[in-house]
Amino acid sequence: MIHDVVIVGSGPAGYTAAIYAARAQLDPVILAGSVTAGGALMNTTEVENYPGFVEGIMGPELMTQMQEQAERFGADIRYEDVTALELEGDVKRITTSDGVYEARTVIISTGSEYRHLGIDGEVRLSGHGVSYCATCDGFFFKDQDIVVVGGGDSAMEEATFLTRFARSVTVVHRRDELRASAVMAKRAQKDPKISFAWNSRVIELHGEDSLTGVTLEDTVTGEHRHLEATGLFVAIGQVPRSELVADVLELDEAGYIKVEVPSQRTRIPGVFACGDVADPTYQQAITAAGSGCRAALDAEHYLTTLQA
Ligand code: NAP
Repeated sequence: MIHDVVIVGSGPAGYTAAIYAARAQLDPVILAGSVTAGGALMNTTEVENYPGFVEGIMGPELMTQMQEQAERFGADIRYEDVTALELEGDVKRITTSDGVYEARTVIISTGSEYRHLGIDGEVRLSGHGVSYCATCDGFFFKDQDIVVVGGGDSAMEEATFLTRFARSVTVVHRRDELRASAVMAKRAQKDPKISFAWNSRVIELHGEDSLTGVTLEDTVTGEHRHLEATGLFVAIGQVPRSELVADVLELDEAGYIKVEVPSQRTRIPGVFACGDVADPTYQQAITAAGSGCRAALDAEHYLTTLQA
């Protein structure tokens, strides 16, 4: 069977593409992933800036609603991991852990993943004090001293969330000015449990079986100082999950899939990209959803041209 639309990835972009494609009677299949279904919002707490929810909505709840909305119109969601994509030609082949799909169009919405610090011991201590997700792991750090690295919205969100459990939270940022939006920065800055280590970066992790502390380097003076901490949450942004298509689609220097603006078309006819994997700039749930809508409309238009 050759499907009209196969969507790879299931964040706000993938589910919105599915809602539009399903309502257009294109019977989309969504390959949602076996562990990452729902995408990054599954690991967040309250989403306050998604229009339509006056009081905000929890990230997982928002994703469940999008998923159910897509299913209501007949989208076929499968919790499989894509391992290979053959995208050239009129019929594309998508290989997953469970089998092979064929499709006339493919929409790629694989999102992004946590950027790592890239320092010694980070991988070894991951799950033993080092974490990338406060909502997943924060509970384990009750009454402990925690370091959060980063100066963006994610770092502010993580730091604020962690004050529910931690004795203290130190935000380590490499500059003396936050990148975070004013509202989130202000919330963190007025929290009595949160302090800031400005112009600082973590250069060393201490601890054999679990984290006991970190060494900070002052980015201005070069001075080093020790900070005792049993938790380190890394919140320094995301890297696009474009490795599956790195050899066949055009990527920018940071690895984001390039699309033919104003559209979600990639360089291969019938292949579209949307959401964070194709967005180096905005990376918001609402912009991901918007680009998912555009990708589905582009796919629908492409399918009509095939029939003409
Ligand atoms: P981001 O905005 O790119 O911020 C990353 C932060 O990490 C920056 O402060 C950056 O420092 C720092 N950084 C990057 N690489 C580093 C390294 N190797 N070592 C040390 N520090 C490093 O990423 P984000 O905070 O994950 O946010 C991504 C997007 O999601 C943004 O558009 C954000 O608005 C959005 N978001 C929204 C919400 C919300 O509205 N509820 C929550 C989370 C995220 P510099 O500032 O010096 O570059």
